[in-house]
Amino acid sequence: MSMTATAQWAALPDHSAEIARVREEFITAYGYEPDGVWSAPGRLNLLGEYIDFLGGSCLPMPLPYRTYVAGALRRDGVLRASSLQMPGDERTVVIRDIQPGHLKGWFTYVAGVAWAMNQEGGRDIMLPDEFGADLLINSRVPVGGGLSSSAALECSTALALLELSCPVRDECPEADATPADSDALRARLAQVCITAENKMAGAHTGGLDQTASLRCRQGHALALDCRDMSARQVPFDLSAVGLELLVIDTRAKHSLADGQYGSRRADCEESARILGVGQLVDVEDLDEATAALGNERLAARTRHVVSEIARTRAFIELLDEGPLEGVRLAVAGALLNDSHDSLRDDYEVSCEELDVAVEAARAAGAHGARMTGGGFGGSAIALVDAHAVEGVARAVAAAYAERGWEPPHFIRSLPGAPAGRLD
Ligand code: ADP
Ligand code: MG
Repeated sequence: MSMTATAQWAALPDHSAEIARVREEFITAYGYEPDGVWSAPGRLNLLGEYIDFLGGSCLPMPLPYRTYVAGALRRDGVLRASSLQMPGDERTVVIRDIQPGHLKGWFTYVAGVAWAMNQEGGRDIMLPDEFGADLLINSRVPVGGGLSSSAALECSTALALLELSCPVRDECPEADATPADSDALRARLAQVCITAENKMAGAHTGGLDQTASLRCRQGHALALDCRDMSARQVPFDLSAVGLELLVIDTRAKHSLADGQYGSRRADCEESARILGVGQLVDVEDLDEATAALGNERLAARTRHVVSEIARTRAFIELLDEGPLEGVRLAVAGALLNDSHDSLRDDYEVSCEELDVAVEAARAAGAHGARMTGGGFGGSAIALVDAHAVEGVARAVAAAYAERGWEPPHFIRSLPGAPAGRLD
């Protein structure tokens, strides 16, 4: 018996309405007008999972779903923030008193950015002593959905704090010029946000998410080499060749802070140590390496890392050669499929909800499908002919209904714009 199921689509955000909303909420919360609204996109990683912290390459693109921050300058050194996603939890801290370990929960991401700006930002990013701000946050990136709401929060906060501080500093850095002009400054801001996430929020992630949110460009994927964080814009226009990326938010919850990310990272570091290489990206012969490790778990982790790096290189080469059509499309689909299987079997970061979504999408005609992001829930992507997207979504929804699971949400991966001021 086949079950009928309807696919639940997340509405595409209307940016003007979102800006008006976050302004109004600011006024409701604090009783005066904000100075501006900044926002940063969630990202979708096409390929190259769990290798950013190992110096591998990855290939993110910005989504149209963003985190919006309305902000106003205050001149008393105090940072106050509230988020519509965390109702009733307004937080306040004196910026120069912020220390790792002192704060808890979501506010560590926000206060962490201010702290990291002062720790390592350099003269043009450090916040003057008297600088303080009121922030009101609203996100259209699903929180904990594998699409990087954490980086969207950090990056929108970083841009807001930087620009809000202009009236109290001598020179105003131009992070908000077009991203192409300000890429070097944005690369430094991304590093600040990475430090905030690692040291304040305690999530030991690499730099993929923050770099994507700040340095991606609309209509392009970002070929990011995590050895030195150098990035190259690769044209990525699926609609021109009749394709779409279907994003499936399983709505199964994961938390990267629960130790899984850290334990994978530790496995990789241990493998590199045993193999006598700086990082697993330096492994040349996989068979030799897995034999030398003499440990099934470490061999499997290494197999994922080395093969994922090769897949990502191959995918970037495909995009450089031309549009995803014919053989190129078939190869791209196979690379996505292999990535998922490797994350499931060798890296063990998938889960039943992700596997079912991926299998159902493939069976319904997707060219390829894989989990994306940190796994343990979160989202999967499927490369699908545009005319088949509804059918594939229904097939995934039906597979969930058959198992009695909460329906997944489907998200349109139209190109998004990079982080910036939006008003
Ligand atoms: P992902 O980045 O994949 O969405 P993470 O677990 O990395 O998932 O980050 C989610 C965490 O980031 C949340 O638990 C919360 O602490 C914080 N966060 C993200 N967006 C918001 C928001 N709009 N308001 C408050 N906190 C947020
Ligand atoms: Mg995150």
